[in-house]
Amino acid sequence: MAFLFAAGCQPLPNIWGSSLPPVSTAEGIIVPWTQPVTDTATVAPTRTAVPTFTSTPTLTPVPTLTATVAPTPSKKDIARALIISFDGLRPDAIDLAPMPNLMELMKTSAYSPTNTRTIDYPATSPSHASMLSGLCIEDHGVIYNKYFMYMGYSKGVDIFDLAHAAGMRTVMIVSKDKLRQLAEPETTDYYEVAYGEPAIERAVLPQIEEDFGLMFIHFAGGDTRGHKYGWMSGEYMKVLREGDEVLGHILQSLKDNGLFDTTFILITADHGGHDRNHVGTLIEDYRIPWIAHGPGIVPQEINLSMYTMDTAATVAYALGLPLQDDWDGIPVYQAFGELQTEIHEKSPCKY
Ligand SMILES: [Zn+2]
Repeated sequence: MAFLFAAGCQPLPNIWGSSLPPVSTAEGIIVPWTQPVTDTATVAPTRTAVPTFTSTPTLTPVPTLTATVAPTPSKKDIARALIISFDGLRPDAIDLAPMPNLMELMKTSAYSPTNTRTIDYPATSPSHASMLSGLCIEDHGVIYNKYFMYMGYSKGVDIFDLAHAAGMRTVMIVSKDKLRQLAEPETTDYYEVAYGEPAIERAVLPQIEEDFGLMFIHFAGGDTRGHKYGWMSGEYMKVLREGDEVLGHILQSLKDNGLFDTTFILITADHGGHDRNHVGTLIEDYRIPWIAHGPGIVPQEINLSMYTMDTAATVAYALGLPLQDDWDGIPVYQAFGELQTEIHEKSPCKY
């Protein structure tokens, strides 16, 4: 086809018909009328063939083919981690609220449906301390659900200690000021308390634009509405939808800033709840969502027995930071399609 097209565009050398003499004349070559067709064919194509070959570069969508063979994203591509905690989010509320942005993200995530639990004291400060430190309550020492400064910060090596020591920019944006206790100010390069879902968005988006190594975002709405109106109530669901909308803007901002494909995202909660509390009388108080997304993650439902301490361990593993021997959390290797070499046979915590 290319040859025919190229030949058709040539105004002069029609080498097969009565127009043969003008061609020859134009080139200054004397071609007898009696010249066999075979001879003209050997002369003319050497010239007319040139455009044919020059037209082949238009056929070079070869790079497109090589692009489709590009290596699939792997854990090595993870450049930063984002941990999002929806305070008091029950896993069974995600579909019911509904939270469409989270549900969409889950399609390409490794997630635990109902088998991840918080610690035996399912309260906000102690549970979050376990989430970020990889330690049980008896080890991190955040035993009150209130911040008394004399108690000091969460003990042990937490994920903020590790990320900051590795030179990463660390960001913590929370909706309860008592969460200051979770990490020392020296290890949080940026810390802000923002009340309400829209305020969280306003605080988070500039931090994404600046880029980060580790960011922790805390939405308080579910817990606040749960205490006031009841877990799974209309008001509880409504604020979850508001949080989900902000989540959508956060994900979009990651994409707009070219960070999404290299960001490990872990979405979870500190505890669940029932009626108007989460004091630990029902399993719904302990169950938390655990949703991991990012390079190297193999989308799947994970049915391991998991605990909130596994969040710190998994984020450290994802970022290539050193796992701590005294951590009670275990990385969820299975989320990366790897062999789960270590599991929780029972709760690692005394309390
Ligand atoms: Zn809470």
